[in-house]
This record gives sequence, C-alpha cells and structure tokens, in this order.
Amino acid sequence: MILLISDLHLEEERPDISRAFLHFLQDRAPHAEALYILGDFFEVWIGDDAISPFQRSIARALRQLSDSGTRVYLMHGNRDFMLGKTFCREAGCTLLSDPSVVELSGEKVLLMHGDSLCTQDLSYIKMRRWLRNPLSLFILRNLPLHTRQKLARKLRNESRSQTRMKASDIVDVSPDEVVSVMAAHGVRTLIHGHTHRPATHQLQIDGQPAQRIVLGDWDQQGWALEKDEAGFRLGCFAFSP
Ligand code: MN
Repeated sequence: MILLISDLHLEEERPDISRAFLHFLQDRAPHAEALYILGDFFEVWIGDDAISPFQRSIARALRQLSDSGTRVYLMHGNRDFMLGKTFCREAGCTLLSDPSVVELSGEKVLLMHGDSLCTQDLSYIKMRRWLRNPLSLFILRNLPLHTRQKLARKLRNESRSQTRMKASDIVDVSPDEVVSVMAAHGVRTLIHGHTHRPATHQLQIDGQPAQRIVLGDWDQQGWALEKDEAGFRLGCFAFSP
C-alpha cells in the first residue's frame, strides 16, 4: 500500500495538525511501502539553515518512519519550495521534482503540487517562474536570515490577514493545462494538491478515460490517498482530541 498526502501547512501555531500528523506517522504510515508528500508540507520554509525546534521535531519523526522501512518522498509546494537537501537528509526523505512520473503498484502516475496548473493566475505564474529560477533561488538562499524572516512575515501578512487559505481563495486548475500536461507525460492518472478541493475527476485524454485525483488540505480534518492493487481510495479522517 502507498500513501499520498499534501497541504498539511505544518506550523507551530497549529499544534492540532502536527499532533494529527505525528499520530498518522505512528498509526497508518508504517503500514505503507512509501509515503508521498506532495507539497505545502510546511506553512512556511525560509531555508534549511533557519530550521526551528518545531520543524526539527517533524524531521525527526519522518526519519523514524523512513528508518523503519517506509520510503518517504517529498515534493515542493508554493509555501515550502526552499526546503533543501539538509532537511531531506535529516528527515530521511527523497526530494521529488515537480512534475514527476512514478509507478505506484504497477500504475504509471503523474505527481504534481498543482500550483503550476493554475495558469489563469498570470501574475502568480510569472512570480513562480521568477522564484524557481536557479539564480533567484541562489540569491534567496544567500539573503541574511533576518531579511528572509522579514520577507516571510510580509508575505504571510499579505495572505488574507493570517486566516487559513480556503479553496475559494485559491485559483483552481485550468482544465486545458491538465489535459496538455497529462498528454505530454503519457499518463492516465494525475495526482496533485494545492487547490484544497479534494475530489476525483474523470476526464478524457486523447479519447481515453483518465482521472485527476486532488488531495485535501489538513485544516479541520486530515486527508490521505491510499493506493494498492485494488485502486485508489481518497479519504478524510477526524483529528483525535
Ligand atoms: Mn500550495
């Protein structure tokens, strides 16, 4: 069995989510051959050199899982695209590029965070292209820590006065982009997060049936997608009190 999750937006201010995730690591994840985390694992990440005790405790918990034999894969989201090699080494996980084609129990699947599918948001796509450019990343990583903290605070304050992102605040994917990306990678299944609109969508790629599975964000409840020989199961679960 393989597990896929995304959009936990882990942060110290939401101990309920961290607790639910640590429970998930103890309870469900050890039964999986692999755990895929498809981005926005952390609410904010300003660099591996600025790791907080809270973030380090999460890395340690992930490490325990990978040491026990479950492979852990991590993809960047738009919130935590600065997660780097040092974190991955500490957490015992492998960084996946976005997009990645992988085989999940014999089935070829395209994995993405999902923000790059929202092509209607032109200003965001432009900013994303700038931020993910190797030269910009180099400059960002080498900014003094306090400058990065100030930048992160500014971005955070701008994002709707500290409230959580609801699906209605996030631009949805563009259907044309979905079809063209899936066709370009020759897949019939796409899995992504980002939009906070968990669902399974049936569609057609070159006249063939295909599906797009959207993972859910962890806010009032947790979400996980399970995959085994029988197929995909997308489900939510309550945070234990
Ligand atoms: Mn996102």
